[in-house]
Amino acid sequence: MWSVLNQCADVVEDEASRIDAENRKVYFASGRAPIDYDILLYSVGSTQASDRIPVGAFALRDAASASRIQARLSQLDKGAAVSIIGGGLTGIELSAEVAERYPQLQVRLVSRGVIADSLSGSGRHAVRKRLSAMGVEMVENTDVQRCDIWSVTTSGGDTLPSDCTIWAAGFGTPALARESGLPTDAEGRLMVDESLSCSQYPEIFGAGDAVRVPDSVAGHLRMSCAAALPLGAHAADSIIARLAKQTPDALSAGYALRCISLGRRSGFIQAVTADDRPRPLVVRGRLAGLAKEQICRMTLSWLKGELRRSGSYKWPKGPLPTEAR
Ligand SMILES: Cc1cc2nc3c(=O)[nH]c(=O)nc-3n(C[C@H](O)[C@H](O)[C@H](O)COP(=O)(O)OP(=O)(O)OC[C@H]3O[C@@H](n4cnc5c(N)ncnc54)[C@H](O)[C@@H]3O)c2cc1C
Repeated sequence: MWSVLNQCADVVEDEASRIDAENRKVYFASGRAPIDYDILLYSVGSTQASDRIPVGAFALRDAASASRIQARLSQLDKGAAVSIIGGGLTGIELSAEVAERYPQLQVRLVSRGVIADSLSGSGRHAVRKRLSAMGVEMVENTDVQRCDIWSVTTSGGDTLPSDCTIWAAGFGTPALARESGLPTDAEGRLMVDESLSCSQYPEIFGAGDAVRVPDSVAGHLRMSCAAALPLGAHAADSIIARLAKQTPDALSAGYALRCISLGRRSGFIQAVTADDRPRPLVVRGRLAGLAKEQICRMTLSWLKGELRRSGSYKWPKGPLPTEAR
């Protein structure tokens, strides 16, 4: 990845602590001299909101936090309980990976609602069947109130023993835009228009999880790699259009597939409409696992492809904008 980036940009490794949009400067947490910009792309992504993670639970944020979880799991005795909180796609993938890698541990997936509720009926059934076959206990319609290093307490007052609790519920966006006085929504996402430019500061563009695009073109998009890639590519097109003194186009991005890995050797793929509604076509098992792995690898090759030929990355178009439907 670094070799790809270094071929196309000067890379500054630091944390941006403030954007001064009036004077077009970015300040850094390390205290290094601020840098000026003519065009700024805001794409700080999302992370697990620290204030929502109970003390005693492990966060799953990045490679370093994954290593801490791995270290804890490998210390546990046979039969120790591992609780994964959050029955969405992250919790499902994590449960399957832990159950497969550490078959001697008791893995429990706890969800506030129904596990895999964003999938079709048959999709939900297939995922649950696979988790069950891997020995994952599924606890649904259960809110976790608090946890410590030995247990999880539900809002119903039940205490479940837990030797390792991993939080996979609730993502938030960094506060950088809000703290810099830029226009944001209630969750702190930078507000941009249909072309991904910030109306108040047209030299600022945004892409990925950290921006709020109008519902007319992005009401169907959720925080995901599958949305962040097209948003990033569209933001680049909009910036190129702006530099050429042309009017940038409105975003059009949609989905085609939802891909879930269920351990290293299995997966589940659900075909979806451009606006992310499940379609009848599903692929299960080994083939789906291989396809998911390939799709993850392809994200890097798409980036490399862009270096060789700008505009080579293509993505599924979105549904018609709401006012045109
Ligand atoms: C465990 C897990 C599994 C996932 N699986 C899938 C999946 O299967 N399919 C899917 O579609 N999506 C998946 N996602 C979601 C996907 O990873 C994100 O939606 C996507 O990465 C968002 O891209 P982004 O560019 O907006 O942000 P990110 O990829 O989060 O990148 C943001 C970058 O900005 C940096 N940054 C943040 N703040 C600052 C700052 N102040 N200064 C400097 N740098 C900063 C961050 O360090 C990071 O490098 C998964 C996410 C997780 C956590």
